[in-house]
Order: sequence, then structure tokens, then C-alpha cells
Amino acid sequence: MHEFSVVSALMSLVSEDAIKHNADKVSRITVSIGVMSGIEPSLFMEAYQSCKKGTVAEEATLDIIHQEVEISCSCGYCGEIVGVSFLCPQCQAVDIDVIAGEDMILQQLELDVPESN
Ligand SMILES: [Zn+2]
Repeated sequence: MHEFSVVSALMSLVSEDAIKHNADKVSRITVSIGVMSGIEPSLFMEAYQSCKKGTVAEEATLDIIHQEVEISCSCGYCGEIVGVSFLCPQCQAVDIDVIAGEDMILQQLELDVPESN
């Protein structure tokens, strides 16, 4: 399952970050999942539940943001496109740059850092 490899990559990123900040635990992970990423959020959540066991993120809450496809066009349009047609909604061009919605991105990490006295 594709989601498992994505989640395990995410978990190593998260633990690296936790170590870097001397955190004991991760309390919240926020990711955005692009609608074009090929990742099924429910499977992602399922994979996360099994991957987090025994890691610093064992007790962390996972928040998933659904990222719509965003494009930028030479006509100056920059924003979301809705629906299945890959066209610029402003000038109908097909030669557009996809700037968001194709990836899973780690947006935010809340770490539990013990106070150092
Ligand atoms: Zn355009």
C-alpha cells in the first residue's frame, strides 16, 4: 500500500525533528494531502495508526488538511482549480503550472519539549 511508505517517510521526518528540538514527545502532526497526490486520507490515517506505535509520535494527534489543486498560469491567474479539467479558469489555457495539490506536506508539528532548568 502506497500510504504506508508515505507515512513511514513522514514518521522519520517527525522523529528527526523531535530529536533536533530535544522533544520527548510529539503532540500534534498536521499534514496536508493534495487531492492529486494519490493518497487516500482514510488509508493514510490507518497506516499512521500502526506506524506511530513505539515512536515519539505514539500519542500524537494527526490532523489532515485536504489540499485542493492550485495552479499558476502565464495570464497571471494563481489559485485553485475546481473539478477535473486541468484548465486555467481565467483564460482556459492548458499550459499551467501545478503549484499545490500533488503532494503530502508536513505542515506543522507540535512538540513536547521538557523545560530545561
Ligand atoms: Zn490563465
